[in-house]
Amino acid sequence: MIDLHCHTRESDGTDTPHELVQIAADAGITTLSITDHDTFAGYDAARPHAWKAGIELICGVELSCRHEEKTVHLLGYFRGAEGAPAEFREWVDGILTSRTERNLRLIAKLNGMGLDITLEEVQAIGGSVTGRPHFANVLVAKGYAADRNDAFRRLIGEEGAAFVERIGPTLAEAAGRIRAAGGVSSLAHPVRIGYFREPERELALLAELREAGLTAVEVYHSDHTPALCERYLEFANLLGLLQTGGSDYHGGNKAGLELGSVPVPWSVMEGLRSLGF
Ligand code: AMP
Ligand code: FE
Ligand code: FE
Ligand code: ZN
Repeated sequence: MIDLHCHTRESDGTDTPHELVQIAADAGITTLSITDHDTFAGYDAARPHAWKAGIELICGVELSCRHEEKTVHLLGYFRGAEGAPAEFREWVDGILTSRTERNLRLIAKLNGMGLDITLEEVQAIGGSVTGRPHFANVLVAKGYAADRNDAFRRLIGEEGAAFVERIGPTLAEAAGRIRAAGGVSSLAHPVRIGYFREPERELALLAELREAGLTAVEVYHSDHTPALCERYLEFANLLGLLQTGGSDYHGGNKAGLELGSVPVPWSVMEGLRSLGF
């Protein structure tokens, strides 16, 4: 079984890297990629545990990128045990810095609305990356939101009163960086870009990104219906892009979504193997 998209508590999942490897082993997963948001800390920590458990662990990351005023996720996969090279890791660390600045402005905005919340409190419940899901948890715990959805809808989501935009790389820049670093990029859960009612627009974006260095499309994902999987597979084949897939497991932060719960065919690995994975 294959799962090439999941998160540990180093970003916005809830399992430690060691726990995640154990869950993968119990689920019968043989090839796993940890794709934490904007950090390799989960992958690095999981490596020795995966080795012991006999699981092939592929170095991955999910980068938050800008596209037409919105955040779009781009997956990056890297060959070999070391995974992403030092220069690329330094560039990703820079993205983390911009995230910290965004978090500070988000706190200031929430405080300005009279909410008692500190960055320390939010950071305390996260790992290497502090994101809005952690803000949501603290806002719920303090009674400022009814639940996580409410926290996003009224406060920290794109339509929320305290929303702060984050400066990040563009999709094209990130795809180019991943390629230059010897990695494979894959457009994560394309349905979420919001063009799914305009397939020709999705196809045009993929074609444009391919020129910038995009190698693959995430065809199999927990948000994709069978019809959407078929559509994105067709787009990948049309454009000569590879396919990737995974559950996007986040542990307790996405209750009910299990690791390995999205069927990913072996043809996905055959494609990656052809590139030396
Ligand atoms: P950040 O990268 O810190 O801006 O946080 C983005 C993450 O927040 C996404 O990866 C989602 O997991 C989560 N998220 C974004 N919008 C929502 C929403 N409306 N409801 C629940 N979770 C959301
Ligand atoms: Fe996430
Ligand atoms: Fe994502
Ligand atoms: Zn993800």
